[in-house]
Amino acid sequence: MKIALDSTLKTVINSIPNPVILTNGKELQSANSAFLDFLGNNSTEEFNNTHKCVSDLFIEHQGFFSPSKIITDENWIDYLFYRPEIKRIVSLMNQNGELRDFEITLKKLEKQSEYIVVFNDITTYVSEKNEYEYFAYHDHLTKIYNRQKFDELFIKALENKKRYKDHLSIILLDIDHFKRVNDTYGHLVGDLVLVMLSTMIAQNLRINDVFARWGGEEFIILLPRTDIQSAFIKAHELREVIETYVDNSLPKITISLGVTEVTETDTMTSCLQRVDEALFMAKEKRNDVIKLSLSSS
Ligand code: GH3
Ligand code: MG
Ligand code: MG
Repeated sequence: MKIALDSTLKTVINSIPNPVILTNGKELQSANSAFLDFLGNNSTEEFNNTHKCVSDLFIEHQGFFSPSKIITDENWIDYLFYRPEIKRIVSLMNQNGELRDFEITLKKLEKQSEYIVVFNDITTYVSEKNEYEYFAYHDHLTKIYNRQKFDELFIKALENKKRYKDHLSIILLDIDHFKRVNDTYGHLVGDLVLVMLSTMIAQNLRINDVFARWGGEEFIILLPRTDIQSAFIKAHELREVIETYVDNSLPKITISLGVTEVTETDTMTSCLQRVDEALFMAKEKRNDVIKLSLSSS
C-alpha cells in the first residue's frame, strides 16, 4: 500500500534542510527536496526507476552501516529499528560524487510498515573526530605511533605473550650524534632525517610489529613472536639499512640499537629499563647493536 502524505505535511517535510524519506525498507515512497537534490533526482518515481532500494546507496566503510551487515532476511530498516545497539551511521555519495556521512533517525508510523527516516549530515563531525583520534595516537612529524599508543599496544602484547606463551622482543634505537645534524644543517633538515628514518625502518618491519616514536630521536619497536636472537639480527639489518641509505639532499646518519626479550616475570618497566640499558651500551661504540637478556643483565 502506498502512503499518501497530505499536502501540509509534504510542505513541512520539504522545508527541512536534511534529507527526509518515507520508506517501507524496500521501495522509496516519498522523499523531500533535500533528499532528491542530494542525489540529483527530480522525483521519487525517477529514484525508484534507477534504484532498487535506498540501502543500495549506503557505501561500505568500517564503522558505518551497510546492507552487507544484515545477517537475517529482514529489510534494512526493520533490521536497524529492532537493533538500537547498531550505530545508525551511513555514508552516501551525492550527485557530484562527494561522500557525506549521515546519522539516521527512524520513526515507525503507527500500525504501518513504513518509517520516516531523517538523514542528519555529520560529515564535519566524523572527519574532525577521525583527525582528533589520529593525532591522539600518531606522532605529528613522522606519522608513526606515538608513545601513548605504544604503551597501549605494549600492554596488549604483554597479555598475549603471557596467554599464548609466545616470544616478544623489543628494539630501542637512537640516532647517533643527531645534535650535530641539527647544529650543522638546521632543525628543518633534522626533521627530514627523522621522517626518512621512520620511513626506512617502517618499510623493513613486519605487519604485526609495532613501531613508535619514543621521543626526540629515539624510536621503539615491539616484535611479537620474535626471540632475542631474531630481534638481534633484525636490529643489525635496520642498522645497516640506515648506514647504507643514500639521499644526496640529506646528511648521512647512523643509529645505535638496544635489544631485549620480554620474559614471564617482566613488567613493562623492567623490560624497558633493560632495553634502555642495552641501548646505552651500544652508544659506547655507536652504529652498533647490543642485546641484553634477563639472565645476562
Ligand atoms: P648520541 O649519539 O649520544 O645519541 O648524541 P645525540 O646528539 O644524538 O643526542 P642528544 O640527546 O645530545 O641530542 C638529541 C638531539 O635531538 C637534540 C634535539 O634537539 C634533537 N631533536 C629531538 N627531537 C627533534 C625533532 O623533532 N626535530 C629535530 N630536528 N631535532 C630533534
Ligand atoms: Mg637520544
Ligand atoms: Mg642520539
